[in-house]
Amino acid sequence: MIQVSNLNKEFGKLHVLKDINIKINKGEIVVIIGPSGSGKSTFLRCLNLLEEPTDGEIVFEGASITNKYNDINKQRQKMGMVFQQFNLFPHMTVIENITLAPIKLKKMERAAANKVALNLLKRVGLEDKAFVYPNQLSGGQKQRIAIARALAMAPNMMLFDEPTSALDPEMVGEVLGVMKELVTEGMTMVIVTHEMGFAKEVGSRVIFMDDGRIVEEGYPKELFSQPKHPRTKDFLAKVL
Ligand code: ADP
Ligand code: MG
Repeated sequence: MIQVSNLNKEFGKLHVLKDINIKINKGEIVVIIGPSGSGKSTFLRCLNLLEEPTDGEIVFEGASITNKYNDINKQRQKMGMVFQQFNLFPHMTVIENITLAPIKLKKMERAAANKVALNLLKRVGLEDKAFVYPNQLSGGQKQRIAIARALAMAPNMMLFDEPTSALDPEMVGEVLGVMKELVTEGMTMVIVTHEMGFAKEVGSRVIFMDDGRIVEEGYPKELFSQPKHPRTKDFLAKVL
C-alpha cells in the first residue's frame, strides 16, 4: 500500500530522518516505538506530506506522492490522521467537525455528510454527542470524535500519533477499543504508541526508531521478548 524509499528529513542543520526504508502492506498494523525525539512524529507527518521530505520517495497505492506533479491533497484525503492533542475545531459542534472535510473537500451534500457522521458517531459510541462542542467532552470522547472525523473521509489508511498519550488512564481503554474495532475491519494502520500491551495484541509489526533511523523491526512478541539491538534492549528495559 505504501513504500518509502530512502526518506530523509532535515530541519535546517538537524537531520531528523535518516534513510528510512519501509514497505507497508494493505491490512497491516505497524506500531512505531522509540524514545522522544527519535523522529516518530516527523515520520508520520512525512507519510501524508504534512512535512515535505528533504529527500527520498513515498509511493502510496502506486502513485509517487513525493513527485511534485502529483495532487497531494487528493492523496492526503486517503490517509486519516489522529493526533495526541485531538485537534478538534473548538468553535464547531461535533457533527460540524466531522462533516467539514467531506463537505468542503469531497463536495458531499450536507444531509449525506450528516448521515455518514451519525453512523460514525454510533460506531465510536457517541451518537448522543452530535450537537455538543468539544469543550463539553472528556479527553477520551474527544479522541473518539477525532477518529470518527478522520474516518468520515473514508481513508484507506489511518495514521495515529500517540493517540492515548494525553488521556487520563481510565480513558485509554475506550480509545484503544475503537482502534481495535478498526483492526478487525481490516484497516491499514500506522500507530505511534507507548501502549506495549496494545502493540503486542494487535500489531503485525513493530518498528523501533532511534535517532532518526529504523534500528530494528519484527513481530511484536519477538521484538518485545528478544530484542536484538542493544538500543532496543535499553529502550524496552525502561518502558516495559
Ligand atoms: P518524536 O515524535 O519521536 O518524539 P519528532 O519527530 O517530534 O520526534 O522530533 C524529532 C526531532 O525533530 C526532534 O529533535 C525535534 O525537536 C525536531 N523537530 C520536529 N519538528 C520540527 C520542526 N518543525 N522544526 C524543527 N525541528 C523539528
Ligand atoms: Mg512525537
